[in-house]
Amino acid sequence: MLPAQDTKHLNEQDPDQLRIHSIESMGTHDGPGIRMVVFAQGCEFRCLYCQNPDTLDVKGGKFIPLEEIVRRAKNMKGYFGDKGGVTISGGEPMLQRRKLKKLFEMLHSEGIHTCLDSNGRLNTPDAYELLDETDLILLDVKHINDEWHKKLTKVSNVNTLKLAEYRESTGKPMWLRYVLVPGWSDQEEYLHELGQHFKDYKTIEKIEIQPYHKLGVHKWKMLGMKYELEGVEPPSVELIEKARGIFSQYFKEVKVN
Ligand code: SF4
Repeated sequence: MLPAQDTKHLNEQDPDQLRIHSIESMGTHDGPGIRMVVFAQGCEFRCLYCQNPDTLDVKGGKFIPLEEIVRRAKNMKGYFGDKGGVTISGGEPMLQRRKLKKLFEMLHSEGIHTCLDSNGRLNTPDAYELLDETDLILLDVKHINDEWHKKLTKVSNVNTLKLAEYRESTGKPMWLRYVLVPGWSDQEEYLHELGQHFKDYKTIEKIEIQPYHKLGVHKWKMLGMKYELEGVEPPSVELIEKARGIFSQYFKEVKVN
């Protein structure tokens, strides 16, 4: 497993360039409509199931000028339609929050919708400023129980829950995302606890269940990292339906991705 790294420079250096892993031009899974998805480089979480372990290294990836991202997004505008736009995913995009705020301002001045897919790790004033400039946040809640969250990601969920609270206070929309891993994040009592925790939130438009899969396992092997979920299988249709049934008791819309 890649050790914890100092992430400060990601936010502070090269203010006009974003450190990215890659760009997908026609994404349909990360936010509404057709979207250009930019995968930011660097993450402080160490999720056992991470499907993009090659995005974790804060010194990896490549730089792209913010202007170049805007130029590409403008070229794509015809495909975005009413709902689409640009999503910044990762890695963890908030590690480059100041640059992203600037990028979102630039995109907004071109009339392009912005979406942020985040694990919610940061509660700094500049993270909140980015959130205020974000049309929609896709907040990944990895586990509602802090001990299990630490087992799954190596860090606490306290900041993620605080960030959700802040977003709720702004009245701006949010989708939750939940990776369903058999034996790790499928405990009935905790699915109910998550529902109870968020049931009165007015800004949550939906929750997306992301069934665990093994598509990124080969990357762990290529990077020489030990994959600790060896032997864990994707959830059965029954298990997914059970989770959907529980979440339906608390959320307006439950979608399985
Ligand atoms: S938060 Fe996302 S990018 Fe970071 S380790 Fe977890 S799954 Fe991977």
